[in-house]
Formats: sequence, C-alpha cells, structure tokens
Amino acid sequence: MQIKGFKYIDENGQKELQLVMPKELETLFKATIYCKGDIMDISEGNPEKTWHLMSSNFNNIHLVAPHQVHGTKVIPSTSQYALPLRPKADGVLITSSSDSMASLRFADCAPVVLASVAPEPWMMLLHSGFVGTVKNISGKSLATFSKKGSALKGERVWAWIGPCICKDCYSRKIDDPSTQNALKVYSPENYYDKNGMVYFDIRGEIKRQLMRCGLPCDNIYEVDGCTYCNSGSYYSYRAGDERARMFLLGGNTTKAAH
Ligand SMILES: [Zn+2]
Repeated sequence: MQIKGFKYIDENGQKELQLVMPKELETLFKATIYCKGDIMDISEGNPEKTWHLMSSNFNNIHLVAPHQVHGTKVIPSTSQYALPLRPKADGVLITSSSDSMASLRFADCAPVVLASVAPEPWMMLLHSGFVGTVKNISGKSLATFSKKGSALKGERVWAWIGPCICKDCYSRKIDDPSTQNALKVYSPENYYDKNGMVYFDIRGEIKRQLMRCGLPCDNIYEVDGCTYCNSGSYYSYRAGDERARMFLLGGNTTKAAH
C-alpha cells in the first residue's frame, strides 16, 4: 500500500501508518498511527495499557493522553499533563521543549497532524470527528499559528489526515439537531442527503478548513481508506468496535529514539 505522506508497515501483527515528514521536519518530529493489531486489541482503547506495552521503545518517557471530549482545546505535551492525569482536550502541541510523547485515540473520527518549522518547529495532534469538525478544531488550531505571523505563508506547513469514516458510511438523521447544526457549517460539497439521512464527508470538510487557512492542497496528505469499510486494517465504532481504538503517537525525535 503506497499512500503519499504515509508509510504503511506491518510489524508482528500490528499495522502502522508512519507519517513521512518533509526534509525540514524529519530530524525534528515523528508520528505514527497504530492501526489494527495485537497491541491495540490488548489495550482496548486504554492509553495506560498501550503505554505499558510500548513505552520501553520510547525511553520510558511520559505520555500525554487527554480525555477526548469533541472540543477544540489543545494542551502542551509536557509531563504536568501526562498520565496518570487525563485532562480534557482534543489536541496536543509538541514543541522543542516538550518532555513527553503525545497521543490521541480514534475509531471513525479523523486523526489530524499539523507541523511546521515556523515561527519555531511545532507539531500538533488533533482529534476531529463529526462534532470536532463542526467546531473547526483543525482550522482554529492552524489559525493560532498564522496569527503569530510567518508560518502560514503556505508552503512551510504540512497536514496529515489519517483514516476516518468515509462519506458513504457516515450518516445522521436529517431532523437531528446536531445534523441541522452541522448543515450550517459544512460546505455543500461535503454532504448529501438520501432517504431522510444526511451523509457527511468529514475528511473533505477538514481539508477545506485547512485550505481556507491558506494551506496549499499539495501540503495535505490523506489516507483514502475508510475505517468502517476496511475493518481488516482499522477500528470503527460504527462497525462495532466499542473499545479498541487506533492510537496516534507523536513526539520529538530526540526524546523518543525508537
Ligand atoms: Zn466507508
């Protein structure tokens, strides 16, 4: 499987999508989406269990693993927010001063990673499902850097959108208040209605939010596959995975020699 911006590997029964960093970032940050596999099955969506199994590969440093609430709050990847604490947030910011690894969990919602060298090197992990996308977590997070200036003259920011549920699998009742609310936000190209249901293209909307902030299309890497359609590779809440989750892990290369 070849996906631009990602490298697919299968390590002893654990499928992984490693983010391929552009040259400017490859010595600074690394991030991986752990998809379906033994480690994720055993840890059942519990980041403490996951880290118990994996931390020895990462110098046993702390792990930030927020309690995800479909909001837009982003916390720093520092030990004061790390396990066993589970602060409420849906994003984690990694900078050169971060002393912890950062993580988030997914089963249909989209994993989003943003990174840049400007104004200083940073990488952000975000959880953007249906609700987080309505709240525009990706665009808002990216905008915090454009306000600081130089980063968003486009070319020097990159984004990765990992596997999530596709536009033909994510439907909601048309008369549901959350659906009606979303219809005010989503671009018409990113939804359609059929038989009393509205189908949402979460990934398409995230991409639009990022491009609206000035990110060029070429700097956005995405995984086409759907979590619901590809149950051999991914976990899907809607397809029946109530507990197991995919695990997005990221951090500074220097602090997490693998
Ligand atoms: Zn699908």
